[in-house]
Parts: sequence; structure tokens; C-alpha cells
Amino acid sequence: MLVGVPREVKQDEYRVAMLPVGVEELTRAGHRVLIERGAGLGSGIPDEHYAQNGAIIVNSPEEIFAQAELIVKVKEPQESEWPLLRKGQLLFTYLHFAADEELTMAVLQSGVTAIAYETLRGPNNSLPCLTPMSEVAGRMSVQEGAKFLERPQEGRGILLGGVPGVQPAHIAILGGGVVGKNAAQIAAGFQADVVIMDVNVDRLRYLEDVMPPNVNTLFSDRHNIRQQLEVADLVIGAILIPGAKAPNLVTAKDLKIMKQGAVIIDVCIDQGGCFETSRPTTHSDPTYLVDGIVHYCVTNMPGAVGRTSTYALCNVTFPYVLQIANKGLHGACGVHPGLIDAVNMADGKVTNKPVAETFGLAY
Ligand code: NAD
Repeated sequence: MLVGVPREVKQDEYRVAMLPVGVEELTRAGHRVLIERGAGLGSGIPDEHYAQNGAIIVNSPEEIFAQAELIVKVKEPQESEWPLLRKGQLLFTYLHFAADEELTMAVLQSGVTAIAYETLRGPNNSLPCLTPMSEVAGRMSVQEGAKFLERPQEGRGILLGGVPGVQPAHIAILGGGVVGKNAAQIAAGFQADVVIMDVNVDRLRYLEDVMPPNVNTLFSDRHNIRQQLEVADLVIGAILIPGAKAPNLVTAKDLKIMKQGAVIIDVCIDQGGCFETSRPTTHSDPTYLVDGIVHYCVTNMPGAVGRTSTYALCNVTFPYVLQIANKGLHGACGVHPGLIDAVNMADGKVTNKPVAETFGLAY
């Protein structure tokens, strides 16, 4: 199969959809791989590393989209890419159709077979292509929180771990899923005093078992959240209610009981955020103040650590790329049945129920 990897064109996107080792494995299996010149640079991977492993480096996205049978990307096709998509071509990438009607219609009309990372199901109903980005965002949330707690960044001037004789920071994490667990692990490593909150008591039991002694668990209800807001230096929002907008667990009024210069990192801002005062921000302007509380609400946190995110993403996507190249989409679905859930469009029809229902399209 001819596999193509274009350079990502979305603003602030530094990831690339293929590693040099992926090129080596595909070429060893008899496939050909086209990589657009400069595709890996944002992740610190020069063209030579791809070429040395058998890739053909091409100069334009047009050359890739015109020839490749399977396009592997990171982000949904951007407007400049829509006219390049071809009927019958396989497209494997994050798509998030339900959030964008114009994109949905453009991709549908192209006739491409659209396979979405975010709906690909793994064993135990997991979403294996979303997990690594939650791991990145969870770990990064503490790193960002530490930075914005510094006084020159308008924070309280608190060192997460304190020092001998001085109290460490108190961190409250709302949501103990993948983001929350990874945040707690890193916060614990900094020797902060951590509380992780969830509504799922079984999840709290599990976290209690695996976390170090400076991480405690607490049921997430209104009283406990308010009590934590009073003492927290850093609050991390990491909840998810699948398919729904995140509820406002912290209201604008609640900010008044927080300490001046405390920091909020609302990781779940991509689902609307769990603080009433959250609004999406970007890496180039990540924070703003409301009532003296620093708000960080970057919707694509993994983008800032493109190299780590690229490796984390490709580690989970590549086995599917290889199977699709080896066996075709139908054969690959036989090996990985969860791939069937990933197919959002085929033969000019929507094959994902929520996407069809969102836009009133035939399914
Ligand atoms: P997850 O499903 O693994 O965990 C979510 C947790 O929230 C679950 O344990 C659930 O029980 C808990 N929860 C639900 N309602 C709650 C409540 N009222 N109080 C406390 N806990 C509650 O999800 P995840 O992978 O950890 O992702 C969390 C969020 O982070 C999602 O919205 C995801 O889209 C987002 N995310 C954002 C970025 C970014 O760049 N901003 C990156 C990755 C993930």
C-alpha cells in the first residue's frame, strides 16, 4: 500500500503522525511511504531520519493526497486540505466531526473513508488513541500549575514541594480518570499535598491503593469541593462525562473563597470546562485573571510538548496503520474489531451514529 504522511498545517500543531521506526516497519513489510518535507520538524525529527528508513520525501501535500491510498495525519483536515481528499482514499486521524459541521460536510462530500482515532475502541471498551494525550495533559497540568504559581506569573509565589520547615502546596484534582491520575502522580513526585476527587467510589478505591501517601482521595460533592477550594493553591479540572459538556463544578461566586493568586488549570476545557469562569485560551496567551485567580484553559495542551506527544500518539496508532496497510481496512477490522467503531464515513455515507444524529444525516 502507498502510505502518505502530510505536514500538519493546523495552527500551533507540532505533532507528526509517523515515526521513522514506523517508516522502517512499513517498508520492511513491502509498503511505500511518502513523507512531506519538514513534516517531523515540529517534533524534532529531520527529513533525513525518515529518508534513511526508506521514506520518499515529497515537497507538497498535493503530491501526497494525489497518490497515497492511506493518509495518516494528526489533526482533522484543514480547509486547505479539503479539496485534496479523494474518493475511496483511507484517512486515519483525529476527526472530532460532531464539533464541526463544515468539516463533516466537506469530508463527506470528498468520498474519503474517514477513520477517527477518537472513536477507535480498544479492549475493555477503552479509547486507546485518546489515552496518551490525556496522560500528556495530566502530567503537563502540574508542570504548568507550578509555573503559574510563581509570583512573576501572577501566582501566589508557592513552590509545589515547599522546603524543610515550610508547607508544600495543596493541590486539588477534580476527576480521577486518566488526566487526574497522571496529574496526581506528578504532583506527588513534587512532594505537594494532593487530594484527588471523583464521583466514582470504585475509582477512588483504586487510586487509594496505587497512590503514594501524600495523595488522598475525597468524594466529589458540592461541600467537599468548596472545602478544597478554600485551602488549595492549585486546582486541576479533569472530569469527563462522555458525550456531554462538562458541568460547572466551580461557580464564579466560588472563586471568592479561594486564596488570591491560586491557579486553576482547566484541562477539561475542551469539553466546555468545569469552572464557570473558564474560557478557551492558547499556548501563546495561556492565562487570564478572574478575581485574582489565575485561569489556564489551553484546549490543546499536548501540542506544546510536540515531541513527547508525537511519540506517545504514534506508539498507539502505528499497530493499526500497519494492519490497514497489510490487510486493507476490512482485513484490519477482523484483527482489531475496535477499528469498526473508528470508521466514521465510508462510501460517501456517515457510519457513526452520534455524528449522523448531530447533523441529521442518513446513517
Ligand atoms: P476519564 O474518563 O479517564 O476520567 C474522567 C473522570 O471524571 C472519571 O473518573 C469520572 O468518574 C470523573 N467525573 C465525572 N464527573 C465528575 C464529578 N462531578 N466530579 C469529579 N469527578 C467526576 O477522562 P480523561 O481522559 O481523564 O479526560 C478528562 C478531560 O480532559 C476530558 O474532558 C478530556 O477531553 C480532557 N483533555 C483535555 C486535553 C487538553 O489539551 N486540554 C487533553 C487531553 C484530555
